[in-house]
Amino acid sequence: LLQLYAPLNFLGSIYSSIRNALVDLEHMFGLLEETVEVADPAHPLPIAARLHDAAPVSVAFRDVHFGYRPDREILHGVSFSAAPGTLVAIVGPTGAGKSTISRLLFRFYDVWSGHVMIDGHDVRAYRQADLRAAIGVVPQDTVLFNDTIGYNIAYGRLGATQEEIEHAARLAQVHDFIVSLPDGYGTRVGERGLKLSGGEKQRVAIARTILKDPRLLILDEATSALDTHTEREIQSALRAVSAERTTVVIAHRLSTVVDADEILVLADGRVQERGRHADLVAKGGLYAAMWAAQDAGMDDSAQTVPEKLPV
Ligand code: ADP
Repeated sequence: LLQLYAPLNFLGSIYSSIRNALVDLEHMFGLLEETVEVADPAHPLPIAARLHDAAPVSVAFRDVHFGYRPDREILHGVSFSAAPGTLVAIVGPTGAGKSTISRLLFRFYDVWSGHVMIDGHDVRAYRQADLRAAIGVVPQDTVLFNDTIGYNIAYGRLGATQEEIEHAARLAQVHDFIVSLPDGYGTRVGERGLKLSGGEKQRVAIARTILKDPRLLILDEATSALDTHTEREIQSALRAVSAERTTVVIAHRLSTVVDADEILVLADGRVQERGRHADLVAKGGLYAAMWAAQDAGMDDSAQTVPEKLPV
């Protein structure tokens, strides 16, 4: 028995040192103090992950109040809704709370009051893993794994066939680029492999998301101006992933806001204005002033949404 016990004891001590290392990491990032426990419900509702299996989701914020620290409320009663398959664009200055809205959709945090609803239910009704499986995100800056470009796309849905991977790459306008590489889909990328440009990386991220086929898409558009050619390729790739799919976008591109079903103008944690582009411009309020300010100092290549709101 002692012989059996010794190795177990040994494993136990490895376990506890790993555990300590993790706790140290948490301390280092201040996670223990800051992150509020987000817990799964005892009887979670099922939620389909893929658009292939179900209709696009509906999304709604109902009078959401939230802050990262108890003494500082960031969102002061935000409400909006996105019908299934529509695109909502959020614009506004840095620090307005745009990314916070996307983090709450993922339920990285729980709201102080109000509701974040997906498919007509509070996100707290779902298991976190199920909720996150139903949401796909294309971030501003994609980190690629030190692996093949094929794997970097396949990661969107492990188990997808080569045919499905290539189909996603075609829709994301990155297939032709990949087959021109020395080892095609087997080409290694990332820090220790081939470096891709920002536009190429983003199209790989879009292909990954097309393969994942989530029912809700969150897009964080790049703030920096891209050259016209890259811009056009990325826009058409994005259209392929957001078509028919409920999409919430933190928008910095003129083309995105002009086509949005609804634009939310967020400032200081409040929705100050909402509507379609033409209506908001006609209304002559904050949004209209943003555009007027941009027109005054605009150069054609940078078709980005100004982040400065008039005071
Ligand atoms: P936006 O995306 O519009 O630039 P954010 O949602 O990122 O704005 O941030 C809104 C406010 O919340 C800012 O004042 C920011 O400093 C604060 N904030 C964002 N993330 C955190 C965090 N993890 N902890 C504390 N404060 C945060």
